[in-house]
Amino acid sequence: MHPSEADILDHMSVESLFPRLEALLPRVQKPIQYVGGELNSTVKDWDETTVRWALMYPDAYEVGLPNQGVQILYEILNELPETLAERTYAVWPDLEALMRSEGVPQFTVDAHRPVRAFDVLGLSFSTELGYTNMLTALDLAGIPLRAADRGDEDPIVLAGGHAAFNPEPIAEFLDAAVLGDGEQIAIAITEVIREWKTEGSPGGRDGLLMRLAESGGVYVPRFYDVDYHPDGRIQRVAPNRPGVPWRIHKHTVMDLDEWPYPKKPLVPLAETVHERFSVEIFRGCTRGCRFCQAGMITRPVRERSITTIGDMVEAGVKASGFNEVGLLSLSSADHSEIGEVAKGLADRYEGTNTSLSLPSTRVDAFNIDLANEFSRGGRRSGLTFAPEGGSERMRKVINKMVTEEDLIRTVTTAYTQGWRQVKLYFMCGLPTEEDADVLGIADLARKVIKAGREATGSRDVRCTVSIGGFVPKPHTPFQWAGQADHETVDRRLRALREALRGDREYGRAIGIRYHDGKPSIVEGLLSRGDRRIGEVIRAVWEDGGRFDGWSEHFSYQRWMDAAEKTGVDVDWYTTRERGENEVLPWDHLDAGLDREWLWQDWQDAVNDVEVEDCRWTPCYDCGVCPTMGTEIQIGPTGKKLLPLTVV
Ligand code: SF4
Repeated sequence: MHPSEADILDHMSVESLFPRLEALLPRVQKPIQYVGGELNSTVKDWDETTVRWALMYPDAYEVGLPNQGVQILYEILNELPETLAERTYAVWPDLEALMRSEGVPQFTVDAHRPVRAFDVLGLSFSTELGYTNMLTALDLAGIPLRAADRGDEDPIVLAGGHAAFNPEPIAEFLDAAVLGDGEQIAIAITEVIREWKTEGSPGGRDGLLMRLAESGGVYVPRFYDVDYHPDGRIQRVAPNRPGVPWRIHKHTVMDLDEWPYPKKPLVPLAETVHERFSVEIFRGCTRGCRFCQAGMITRPVRERSITTIGDMVEAGVKASGFNEVGLLSLSSADHSEIGEVAKGLADRYEGTNTSLSLPSTRVDAFNIDLANEFSRGGRRSGLTFAPEGGSERMRKVINKMVTEEDLIRTVTTAYTQGWRQVKLYFMCGLPTEEDADVLGIADLARKVIKAGREATGSRDVRCTVSIGGFVPKPHTPFQWAGQADHETVDRRLRALREALRGDREYGRAIGIRYHDGKPSIVEGLLSRGDRRIGEVIRAVWEDGGRFDGWSEHFSYQRWMDAAEKTGVDVDWYTTRERGENEVLPWDHLDAGLDREWLWQDWQDAVNDVEVEDCRWTPCYDCGVCPTMGTEIQIGPTGKKLLPLTVV
């Protein structure tokens, strides 16, 4: 009997590609990012394992390595017996060119094994702008771009992460997608693959995909057909074979204390965007900001206990040697025991070289107390707050319950306590926004500086306003909204800049940072796109599109040319407002949110009606908890952190 190509791949072609890669490295920039061997990385014996995952963050090493999701899955999968996980990142165009000319395929950085030899290529998408990088990796790996063209010898290409809540634009390139928390589902998928392989891979690739689809927790796009109305709207999305569920639900890990990962954080070899040990202190957010997809799709709130946080910080710092610890979540100051956590950690690490950081976005005095605690003995350089909307009306629309008074009081307190630089984050292009709402940002900034000067008696106070373009996202109340066109956004931002520049009294104390509105339109196309957008992505990639999240690589014109070439009307996907009954491309993917509740919240938005946080007020039936069998899980536990001395 002749061995199949799959058998050969399984045993033969997993030799390290490093000798061939090494020959190319002197000719590329930052070669260190491709060599692997980081502290806490893992290399397992290929032949001792049955299920092998290649995990990819589809961006450069410097962005991809610190990604928590990948680090967590990498560790969990490698802890499983008979399972191996390695990492791969997007290679820069200089190395890509050399790999093509020298025939070196996409490799993992751990043991430099060819990605095509793995059972699964798991991609984590935090943003849609990584889609073209996925195509580069598939192509370099020798994996057919279209899922339908893949054979038994190719890995299952699986997407996760926030962008996977609408994977339709990349459906033709994916074998599967999973929604929600990855810890448990990654193990479940591993088990399905292990069983299937042990049984002799019955039914081949299709057999495995069917098993995954039948499990109910994995979306296999090819098992669903999409029908369209003559006007282009979707008529319905339906399974095309028996045994496949109509809707696919997200996964929710309920007890974060049971999953204290990463235990051994990876320490990068090359420079990366974050060089610290991050501990996720809770998951989910119910503040209800209507623009925030992360908040909506990660409900409900699940806190990690103060004692587990303390243990994780201690173990992670010891295992990695990092001297900065970040407390991570969507709104860290909302942890029910954040005061205790901050004080406990500040006491524990006082006098050592370990510093603490908290991404502070909530606008209140308590946040400043926390920031003071975290900067004990250190420099009070900058604080960030995110009012998001420039006017009171705008903040009601987006459900960001911050009054002008709150903001000025908070920032003034920061100035009087020694902080000199405050950053305020806003968005432009929000639903119902008018020119005056954006100009309101200038008024707010002026008032902040005026109050700061009065309170400190000094002119040495500054603030920077940083403005991002709003993109309506799936599974949020704004999923029906028409996105503002880039001309409008640019005009409003220019007017804001002029207003600040022309201000002789305060203008010099106020910095302004923003990008033009064009990238947001591409992000909008990819966020709310359907399967017809796949062709655009492919055309952009064929035209050389790479690293779209990087302004120096991004080309708006390339996207518009590709849309025109493939007959896609960008406005129809972006600036068009959707009706209540329109089938949205992601309606068959269940983030738990009740569609009627989302619609009502969209109506409340346009009527300036606010919704409270269900952590502290009665449940308002967004749908998540009953659908997902979950509940809000918050403290306080009343426990304290022990002031361990660090040796
Ligand atoms: S179902 Fe109720 S308690 Fe659960 S997240 Fe929604 S509003 Fe909050």
